[in-house]
Amino acid sequence: MKTFLAIVLLAILVWVLPLLWQRWRRRYLRSRKLTAQQQAILSERLALFPYLPAKRQQELQENISLFLRDKEFVGCNGLGITEEIRVVIAAHACLLLLQRENNCYPNLHTVLVYPDAYLAEETHYQGQVQSTHLSARAGESHYRGPVVISWEDLQRGLAQPQLGHNVAIHEFAHKLDEEDGYVDGRPPFETSSEGKTWAPVMREAFAKLRQRLHAEYSDTAKPDAVPSDADQSDTDQSMGQDKSQLWVLDSYGAQSPAEFFAVATEAFFIVPGRMEAAHPELYREMQNYFRTDPAALLRGSRPGG
Ligand SMILES: [Zn+2]
Repeated sequence: MKTFLAIVLLAILVWVLPLLWQRWRRRYLRSRKLTAQQQAILSERLALFPYLPAKRQQELQENISLFLRDKEFVGCNGLGITEEIRVVIAAHACLLLLQRENNCYPNLHTVLVYPDAYLAEETHYQGQVQSTHLSARAGESHYRGPVVISWEDLQRGLAQPQLGHNVAIHEFAHKLDEEDGYVDGRPPFETSSEGKTWAPVMREAFAKLRQRLHAEYSDTAKPDAVPSDADQSDTDQSMGQDKSQLWVLDSYGAQSPAEFFAVATEAFFIVPGRMEAAHPELYREMQNYFRTDPAALLRGSRPGG
């Protein structure tokens, strides 16, 4: 009996107490108010913030408060980390967590920020032959490791929202995706019924993007064709659609289901109206998952949530 009680006591000490401590700590850090400077940066740099209902604004600020105190920001290549860098990145990361019981990216401890695009080694295999080369990157998310962001690329995305690019949203979508242990384009759902229609809708939208990219490549063989890297310029008229509805999703999403989810998350939050018009089913899935309706919020047609 004594042995049994000792085991129970040990389990409480080793397993339950750290969990309770973590829970208390997160609640405490969420309760700390943002400074006036942090609030000003948030209102100014997160485009959706002024459109959120007061309750969601409050929730977002609580998650940002936790994020800022829980994660370490490291400047690379001589970049000094400013309050603006911290708040802008934290705000876009936490936008993805609205109305969700969350532990604020528990697998993430460090955010590395480069002043601009950085070089990373990439390894390719062709059969038995291995080759390595350097490639320029705007950001990346390491599985159960740090998120890396190019500050210049993030700023460029914020300055030109019509392009639908936001490297912070992109990389934190990957972080969400990995929370169930797989980076497969399907983030964890709280209940299985919640994610019932996710797979077929995502599969179809992913296949369509790949088909469109394939058609684009085929067209480049023609003398007056649009070059394939014009994916965000809305110049492809070959499909007879409204220009604004073309290439809402970056062609980079055609690489894999995981990249598709990250690219679709960017479009969902940055160009929601265009995404809703061009990909209504995909938009609805993302609206259900992220529990918010950015297109309606921006239209002001109803208080979002
Ligand atoms: Zn990616």
